[in-house]
Amino acid sequence: MKIGLIGLGIMGKPMAKNILKGGYTDLLVSDLNTAAVEEVVAAGAKSATNKEIGESCDVVLTMLPNSPHVKSVMLGENGVAGYMKPGAVFIDMSSINPVASKEIAAVLAEKNIDMLDAPVSGGEPKAIDGSLSFMVGGKQEVFDKFKPLLETMGASVVRCGDVGAGNTTKLANQIIVACNIQALAEALTLAQKAGVDPQLVFEAIRGGLAGSTVMNAKAPMMIEGNDKPGFKIDLHIKDLNNALDCAHTVGAPVPMTAEVQEIMQWLHNNEGGQKDHSAIAQYYEHLTGLKLGR
Ligand code: NAD
Repeated sequence: MKIGLIGLGIMGKPMAKNILKGGYTDLLVSDLNTAAVEEVVAAGAKSATNKEIGESCDVVLTMLPNSPHVKSVMLGENGVAGYMKPGAVFIDMSSINPVASKEIAAVLAEKNIDMLDAPVSGGEPKAIDGSLSFMVGGKQEVFDKFKPLLETMGASVVRCGDVGAGNTTKLANQIIVACNIQALAEALTLAQKAGVDPQLVFEAIRGGLAGSTVMNAKAPMMIEGNDKPGFKIDLHIKDLNNALDCAHTVGAPVPMTAEVQEIMQWLHNNEGGQKDHSAIAQYYEHLTGLKLGR
C-alpha cells in the first residue's frame, strides 16, 4: 500500500515514524517545513510534492492545524484531491470542524474517493510512543480496511459513526477537558482564598468522585505555577471555536463552552496563547491577586 502523509508538525512527525516502524515503508511525505521533511526522510520515508502524493498514493493522510488548512491542501488550487485516483481514500487526522469534514467528504465522494475523519487525543508523548486514541468517522468497510494502519500510531481506534463523527467526538473531548480545567482552577482558588492549602485539597479529593485524569495532570502544574505547554491555549481556542460553530450549526446549547472559551481568549490577549491550557488558573489568580500554592 502506498501512503502519503501531509503535515509533519509536533504530531505528524512522530506519527510518520510510527507508520514506518509498523511496516508500512512505502510512505511519501510533505510539509512546508523542510527540516521536518528531512527528519522523516532520514527515518525511511520519501519526500514528495502534493501532486505526486495525490497521483500515486492509495491512501492520503493529513495532520494539519485546522479546517482551512485541510480544505486548502485537499480542495484548493492544485489541491491533492484533483490528482487522486477514483477508489483512493483520504484520512484526515487533524482536529477540525466536523461540518468541514462533511463538506470535504461530499466533494471527494463525487470523485469516488472515500474519506475517514480520524482525529486523535493523547498529545505529543502518545504520538511518539504510538499510543494515541483515534476517534473515527466514515463507512464501516473503509474503517475496517484502514484500522491496522491507524493502529501503527494508536493504542485505541474506535469508529464513532459516519464522516464527521470523529471530529464531533473530538469536540466533545475538548469541551469536557476545558470545563474540567476551569472547574479545577476555580475550586483550588476558592480553597486557597478560604485558607486551605490547595495541595492538600488535591491529595484529599483525587481518589474520590471529583478525581480525574485532568485533575492528576493539571492540579500539580497549577500549584507549581508551571505553564509549560503540553497542549497550548491557542490550539484549545481553535477547538472550542469549532465546537461553538458546530453547536450553532446544529442548534445545541453550549453555555459552558462559551464561558471557558472567553477565559482562554482573555489568556490569549494577555500573552498566554502559547501557555499550557492549565494556565486557566492564571485567570483566577488575576481576579483574586493570589498565586496558587504560594
Ligand atoms: P503543528 O502546528 O505542530 O503542525 C502542523 C504542520 O502542518 C506544520 O508542520 C506545518 O508546517 C504543516 N502545514 C501547515 N500548512 C501546510 C500546508 N499547506 N502544506 C503542508 N504542510 C502544512 O500542529 P500539531 O500540534 O502537529 O497538530 C496537528 C493537529 O493535531 C491539529 O489539528 C491539533 O489540534 C491536533 N492535535 C494536537 C495535539 C497536540 O498535543 N499538539 C493533540 C491532539 C490533536
